[in-house]
Amino acid sequence: MVGEEEQAILYQCVRCGTIVKSSELELGIRCPYCRYRVLKKIRPPVVKRVLAR
Ligand SMILES: [Zn+2]
Repeated sequence: MVGEEEQAILYQCVRCGTIVKSSELELGIRCPYCRYRVLKKIRPPVVKRVLAR
């Protein structure tokens, strides 16, 4: 069971702009707030740690 936070796919409601994790979408793609069913898949920002000295 791999439940890493990194694996989560984020969806953004195109109507109200709410960002929902894929793990929170239990009954398919639907905004939990406005119940709009069009969500846009977005990538979580990958932050690379670079030590700039
Ligand atoms: Zn919404």
